[in-house]
Amino acid sequence: MAGQEFSLRNANASVIELISGEEALNELKQVDDYFNNFSRFDLESRLKSSTATLDDYIASFTQRIVNWNEKQKQCIGNYIDYINTKCIDQLQLLVLPARISVVLTDGKDQSDDAHCRNNNVIVLPQHIVIMTDSKRETFIHELFHIWSRQKTNMKIRDELYASIGYHRIPIDYQSELPSDLSEMKITNPDAPFVMKYFINLKRKNHQKNKICKCTPIIHASRPFKSKYSTSMFDYLVATTIVLDEETYEPKQPLEYLPYDQAANFYAQIGNNTGYIMHPEEILADNFVLWMIATKNPSRLRTPTVVHNMNDIIVRSVK
Ligand SMILES: [Zn+2]
Repeated sequence: MAGQEFSLRNANASVIELISGEEALNELKQVDDYFNNFSRFDLESRLKSSTATLDDYIASFTQRIVNWNEKQKQCIGNYIDYINTKCIDQLQLLVLPARISVVLTDGKDQSDDAHCRNNNVIVLPQHIVIMTDSKRETFIHELFHIWSRQKTNMKIRDELYASIGYHRIPIDYQSELPSDLSEMKITNPDAPFVMKYFINLKRKNHQKNKICKCTPIIHASRPFKSKYSTSMFDYLVATTIVLDEETYEPKQPLEYLPYDQAANFYAQIGNNTGYIMHPEEILADNFVLWMIATKNPSRLRTPTVVHNMNDIIVRSVK
């Protein structure tokens, strides 16, 4: 049975479809950038077992996908009505996939927050699908990730990243994560790539005020042990690793520059969000503020970030 559909009034009139059952399972099974970047820790923490395999993880989706009930369908309809009316000026600038599918999960795995998969799938745990402003904003946040991963939007995305200080590592210099970190990496489905962008950071209290090229990384603080904790968040460390000035390779031995030890981090990314672990997340939260055109000054603490976003997106469609 086909799922319920909604029309989005964006530049290319996308259709948003609520899917479940076999159709949803087929989407979640696909090997995308998220699965391609999975680490040992990702598997163990998501399945809460130190012998977990990717097949076990995929098999677990069957239990996780739930059918949409009328109230939940109505709720998504309500989010879309809001975006189609209140956010219409911004929405009409956005080229999105022709079809965007939305999958509902039981949300029993707390590490499994709202996220995106493949090129056009939004996964929402059912506790997110309720009629509140903040949950509607989570949906808009995820729409940014869908927009940002479209090939047609890559150039604009790089401009947006650069507007908050993140620059693409030249393609000839892109290297792998060092092996001691690759097993411990935590993969964010909304921003699955590592070693692709850098930001120039100055270490606080460093006499020479030296600028370092740094790349964002999330990793586990220790190997997964269910006795310690089964929640990924108890292990999560969001930081940056310092790269060599010339080669963009991670310095050896590994050198970290945590965000709170950088003197110039917030001067670049602004203060509109505390979700700072990757430029993709910083921008997704600023995108929400741009879409809802908030007049609430306490939320727009750095209006320039949102103004720059507006300029870049408006310019891109001219
Ligand atoms: Zn996100």
